Parts: sequence; C-alpha cells; structure tokens
Amino acid sequence: MEEFEDKGGVGRTELENLGEFGLIDRLTQDLPIHNPQSTLKAVGDDAAVLKVPEGHVQLVSKDLLIEGIHFDMTYCPLKHLGYKAIAVNLSDIAAMNAKPLQVLVGIAVSNRYSLEALEELYAGMRLCCDRYGVDLVGGDTTSSVSGLCISVTVLGSALPERVCYRSGAKENDLLCVSGDLGGAYAGLLLLEREKREFLANPNVQPDFKDFSYVLERQLKPEPRTDIVDLLARLDVKPTSMIDISDGLASEILHLSKESSCGCMLYQSKIPVDAETCKALEIFNILPEVAALSGGEDYELLFTISQKDYEKIKDVPEIRIIGHMVEAAQGNYMVPENGTMIPLTAQGWQAFNKR
Ligand code: ADP
Ligand code: MG
Repeated sequence: MEEFEDKGGVGRTELENLGEFGLIDRLTQDLPIHNPQSTLKAVGDDAAVLKVPEGHVQLVSKDLLIEGIHFDMTYCPLKHLGYKAIAVNLSDIAAMNAKPLQVLVGIAVSNRYSLEALEELYAGMRLCCDRYGVDLVGGDTTSSVSGLCISVTVLGSALPERVCYRSGAKENDLLCVSGDLGGAYAGLLLLEREKREFLANPNVQPDFKDFSYVLERQLKPEPRTDIVDLLARLDVKPTSMIDISDGLASEILHLSKESSCGCMLYQSKIPVDAETCKALEIFNILPEVAALSGGEDYELLFTISQKDYEKIKDVPEIRIIGHMVEAAQGNYMVPENGTMIPLTAQGWQAFNKR
C-alpha cells in the first residue's frame, strides 16, 4: 500500500480562506481523462458532456456516505475513504456486468476539515479512478454544519445483451462467487478493537502486524471489474448478478427473491482466506458467519447456467458455492453433514437502531 503511506507534515489551510471556487479549483485541477471517446467535457462548465459508446446502453448508480453512519474518522484515513467511496460505486456497475466510465462527486463538508484533508480525500478518489480507468467529470461542493457527506454517482456502459440483472436466475443454475469473503468484517473488528484500546490509552500503538490483508479488505475494497472482463473472455454471461455489500446471506436472498427461486448454499464451499480465519478467531467468530453476515467484501455473486460449468470450473478466481432450486424449497445453507440451516438476512441494515 505504498501510495497510501502517510506523508506527514501537511499544513492546515482553512476552507473559509479559500472559498468554494478556490476549493473546487484545488480539488479538480489536472484531472486526467481516460475515456476521451466517451468523456467529451469533464469538470469546468455547468455540466459534463458524455457520449455512450456506439450500440451500448448507459448505466447509472449513486451511493451516499455519511460520517458517523458509514465511516468513522477515528480509524478511516481520508485517502482510503476517498478510494472506497469510488470503489463501492464502481462495484455497482460491475455487478450489472458493465464497465464504469465516469463518476460525479458531491461533498458537504464542515469547517472541521482543512484543504489538506480534502486533498487527501481526493487523492484517494483519483487513485481509484486512475486504477480503473474512470473519469471524474464533475460534482458539487457545499458546507455542512457537522461532519462530512460524500455522494458519488457513477456512469457506465455495456452492450444491452451483456447486462445482468438480479432477476435472471433459473432453477438448477450454479451459484458462483469471486474472490473470498468475510475479510472486510474481520478488518472492521480489528479496527474497532484498536479504537476501544486507543480511547482507553492513547499512547498505545496499534498492533496490526500479520493482518494487512483484512485491513485492506475493510479500508480499501477493490471493485471486481476484472471479473466482468474475465466472464466476457470466457464467453459466459451470468443469468443473474449482484455485488456483496451486505453479506452473502442477504445477497443470496436478493437474487432468490428477484428471480423467484430458492437456493442451496454449500457451507464447505464458502471461500474464506486463511488470514481472515486467523483474525476472526481472536473474536470467536466462525468464518462462515463473517462471510454470511459481515458485508463490505464487494465481491461479485452470480448464477450461471449448468451448460457453462466447463468454462468456469478451473478458474481460480471463481468458486461454485451452491445452486438454485425452485422457490418452494426455500433458501438454505447445507453443511457437509447435519441439518440444513435457513438463510436469513442478518447483514448490514441501513435502518438498524444504533
Ligand atoms: P454550478 O454553480 O454551476 O453548480 P459549480 O461552481 O458548483 O457550478 O461547479 C463548477 C464545476 O466544478 C462544475 O463542472 C462541477 O461539476 C465541478 N465541481 C464542483 N464541485 C466538485 C467536486 N466536489 N468534485 C468534482 N467536481 C466538482
Ligand atoms: Mg454546483
């Protein structure tokens, strides 16, 4: 994570000394354009001018991130937050089997934040945009009475016949997942533990050695646009797809409900990384519980027709973890031996009391 190292020694320029236009200028100067065919005019006028590639349809999605609800400034560095704010939006476009092309960023910010802090946030956003070839084409900037709000809108495109919905799964389709699960939740548990210890004794330095993978999974998730490309190369079109933001159980229930199916998930096939298991052990949490209910892994969950089995069976980035059944059979996790466990959505709920 070299590009995320704390450079230290940054100054503090108050936003009121800069004004709205000064701030926008500083944050948006020298933004590169990765998609000149599609991004005809980016930041700098009253609106951006975009062109959807020939024969493609346009996809749009938006996510809102609020300080104290979606992120905690005590352990979320601003550069990571910027990266994540973009990444989670790109993930939504990937989940439609499409390619993200542009983002718009709205921020509402209190005077608690300095220019340097916002430049860190934007450095993270730029890094993610550059890595995934996405153009930052506009936004809006305003003040807030408390804290930071970030709203990101993402635009993408795909050939209409490649777009995948949540609703296309059929009985007997294979349920697949990319990467591994539960890591982001393990990272969150470690960060929360450090926060408690820091509040009790601010002189204690965090002990994060051996856990860099799970911390990255929490602080700097990667959208799986590579899986979209891989599926195209394999000539596989998923019958349904969703990204895993709220935990595997909740996303399976979404696919099942939208597709009018049920699902059998094989417990032993759920991919969890060894470091994730080690971190979860500290908190006495079973790996499958973190995978099912943890959330924020931003992997892709999708179904494929059985006829595509041969094409994906040896692809290391994709695991078959279950199959779809008729709706009347319900949604269950099936252990190797023992009774079937009904799947319930205990993932992240935006309206839970906290
Ligand atoms: P207007 O008053 O017409 O809304 P603004 O002064 O808010 O225009 O914005 C000027 C330009 O800067 C526009 O192109 C807008 O999209 C862009 N912009 C404003 N705020 C942001 C931001 N936070 N991030 C990226 N671009 C921004
Ligand atoms: Mg504006």
